[in-house]
Amino acid sequence: MTTSSDSALRVAVVGSGPAGVYACEALLDWSDSRDPSGRGIVVDLFDRLPVPYGLLRHGVAPDHPRIKGIARTLEGIAADPRIRFLGNVEFGTDLTLEDMRGLYHAVVFSTGALADRLLNIPGEDLEGSHGAAEFVTWYDGHPDSDPEWVLTAERAAVLGVGNVALDVARMLVRSAEQLEATDIPDHVRSGFGTNASRVVSVIGRRGPAYAKFTPLELREMGKVEGLTVVVDPADLEYDDEARELREHDRRVGQICDQLEKWAGAQREAGHGSADQAEAAALDAGGRVVRFRFHRSPARILGTDGRVSGLRLELTEPDGPRVRSTGRTEDLQVEAVYRAVGYRSAPLEGLPFDPGSAVIPNDSGRILDSPDGDPLPGLYTAGWVKRGPTGVIGTNRSCAVETIGRLTADLDSGALNEPTHPDPPAVLDLLAERGVAVVDGAAWTAIDTHERELGAAAGRERTKLPGRAEMLDIGLNPRPASR
Ligand code: NAP
Repeated sequence: MTTSSDSALRVAVVGSGPAGVYACEALLDWSDSRDPSGRGIVVDLFDRLPVPYGLLRHGVAPDHPRIKGIARTLEGIAADPRIRFLGNVEFGTDLTLEDMRGLYHAVVFSTGALADRLLNIPGEDLEGSHGAAEFVTWYDGHPDSDPEWVLTAERAAVLGVGNVALDVARMLVRSAEQLEATDIPDHVRSGFGTNASRVVSVIGRRGPAYAKFTPLELREMGKVEGLTVVVDPADLEYDDEARELREHDRRVGQICDQLEKWAGAQREAGHGSADQAEAAALDAGGRVVRFRFHRSPARILGTDGRVSGLRLELTEPDGPRVRSTGRTEDLQVEAVYRAVGYRSAPLEGLPFDPGSAVIPNDSGRILDSPDGDPLPGLYTAGWVKRGPTGVIGTNRSCAVETIGRLTADLDSGALNEPTHPDPPAVLDLLAERGVAVVDGAAWTAIDTHERELGAAAGRERTKLPGRAEMLDIGLNPRPASR
């Protein structure tokens, strides 16, 4: 870590996922090209986990190495000597807002959104009813997730038709062999070894024209070995509004075309209905992902406290919305996964809008209430700023906007004036509190160890399973073979 002088601008970024790292990039960019005083910058990039990259590491599906490749870009940014990684430090517990105000001119909160939204329908608390994030964090080896996941359901339903639903459904039909080359921890690999899944239904409350999938991700479903994608042709009907959307929105057109292609393939194979197509695929020993539209989840059915079915209300289009037909349908499933959106968690001492589950802000400047005044020196970026939407790259422009506000406030003298801006002050405070900080060198030790573990099995990386193992390796580095 270098600092040009003790008067360097001191910024803390809380949350080292894509939004946090892109905020660091925007700060470096400002320092390189638009810092009129030449005072320099030192950024502390905090994470409550001992490892960086947030959603990229613990949210992107392991069979998506293309997206995981963005890690290399983030690594390049975080390697700048003006960025100091301080992992295993929890905001609100290890450091308070008051501490931050004493240490930094500005703080950017980019803590993301990894809690599951509830549907508030009966049965959500049954065993076998899960939020997508619970499953995603398990298969991605989040150190705080429960290491046990029982993949005993032969039939499961995934609620929601966005990209998270596709990730969850695709992962639910994976075998351990198909995940052999990925970076999942060994206990997750073993979990997939007993995957009993046969049919996964992906359920949309509206029609296909309103699915939130992206075409590339949808097409990918057709490439999973041993998997048949089944679509009920009766679901592929459009009212005038949906037809117009399909014609004018390229993404929507591609989604509808792909679904029709699968329905067409079923017809050509001689299957008169989706049920027949499903039965034929199962008879051949394969697995099935079945898309069902115009079905709104009404109740998760249970027997002896466990999920045994799903009651769906059949809907019909009403422009971009749907109305109930008054009819229901019960689906026999043993597990239900809600992929209906994520929620951010409130942060200690900061305002939070519970309705939209974001920190109230004006283009990244944190406000004391949704229509209130800016809180000097406090900013936000990423999903906790704007809600859980957009792809990873969306966080770059989001962070640039936030840092634009921060540097404008610097220019106008509106930032916070810390009493202890010198870079060692925060380390001293954390040491006093007994916090085992995972700094850049400790993270490098974890990273190297995971790469060595992976190389021994012919993979790029094998993730360590838990926080204790990460701290052990990070704070007491040793060769992987020992
Ligand atoms: P999303 O795209 O907003 O999809 C949420 C889905 O849940 C929608 O189909 C929505 O239907 C449905 N839903 C919401 N409330 C519901 C209810 N009460 N009953 C039934 N269905 C309900 O969110 P997401 O899938 O969580 O993804 C979050 C973001 O991450 C998205 O921008 C996504 O593209 C991105 N992502 C990208 C990738 C990738 O690029 N590979 C992977 C994962 C996630 P309605 O439309 O009817 O509300």
